Amino acid sequence: MASDAQAPTSQDTASRGRAGYAALAGRPNVGKSTLLNHLLGRKLSITSRKPQTTRHALMGVMNHAGAQIVFVDTPGIHQAQGKALNRYMVGQAAGALAGVDLALMLVEASGWRDADDIVRQRIASAEVPCLCVVNKIDRLGNKERLLPLIDTLRHKHPFREIVPVSALRNDGLEHLADVVASHLPEGDPIFPEDEVTDRPLQFLVAEIIREKAVRRLGAELPHQTAVVVDSIKPRREDKGGKGGKGRPCTEIHAVLYVERQSQKRIAIGNGGAMLKSIGQQARKDIEMLIDGKAMITLWVKVDPNWSDRRRALQRLGYA
Ligand code: GDP
Ligand code: MG
Repeated sequence: MASDAQAPTSQDTASRGRAGYAALAGRPNVGKSTLLNHLLGRKLSITSRKPQTTRHALMGVMNHAGAQIVFVDTPGIHQAQGKALNRYMVGQAAGALAGVDLALMLVEASGWRDADDIVRQRIASAEVPCLCVVNKIDRLGNKERLLPLIDTLRHKHPFREIVPVSALRNDGLEHLADVVASHLPEGDPIFPEDEVTDRPLQFLVAEIIREKAVRRLGAELPHQTAVVVDSIKPRREDKGGKGGKGRPCTEIHAVLYVERQSQKRIAIGNGGAMLKSIGQQARKDIEMLIDGKAMITLWVKVDPNWSDRRRALQRLGYA
């Protein structure tokens, strides 16, 4: 929408494709996961993590308008201390920014906050070209309120472009993908299109469940809470059954790890009410991600030293 730099048009890319890594960066709650999930859920194929790219925590590959965009989520860019998992995540965030072709800095339409400065500094020190994505514009009654914000953003950082979206409402995402693609270098696809596994889907699903748990339980749960997705299996529903129209359904089994017995009780809730509510909230996002029905079964397990054990990290696929 607001453009300072001249972006090549899609015509320029007709002869040769574009391909590259685009990192999502932004303070917690700004909407990174929602944006990635909605981009992924709509038209992305999810690809395996290659050995040379293990520094990236989470990737989603989007083949869009002759370009291949490899989106990289940067969890924990804000977390500075803590146990093995946090250290790993911070390393991921820093590393993810250093190796990419483009950064997408997300901010909220409600305005610039102090925490945004930290993210901006990281981007500046990584010296990576950056787009600014203004998210949650659905919350603005009057879209004209964007104009002073865009003006502020222009002075904060030499953003290549400033693109307003609503990740939640899928508003502006097509245009955003166009803009991202136009800023990637020319080149052949990084990943073959047929190289798709469901392993990264496990990461995305685990991330969604973990976020719902943390959001629901807030201070009751430590940051170290982890979710391990044990299985994701397709299942055909009975045709004759109530509401069953033979739609494919995906059965997901996942374990929420907590550190103490008392946390386990809270996470399960009265008669399982809390766990059920976490599962229901996660299901909405997961169904959007996989574009189909999902059935989620959640367990809670106590593992006192979970977050400090490398073995556990490896079990999650964090090598
Ligand atoms: P992250 O911490 O940056 O990954 O943020 P999340 O993707 O988890 O989003 C944080 C919260 O903001 C969630 O409750 C989302 O549903 C909400 N959210 C994300 N994008 C939008 C948006 O475009 N509009 C609105 N109204 N809410 C959003
Ligand atoms: Mg997130």
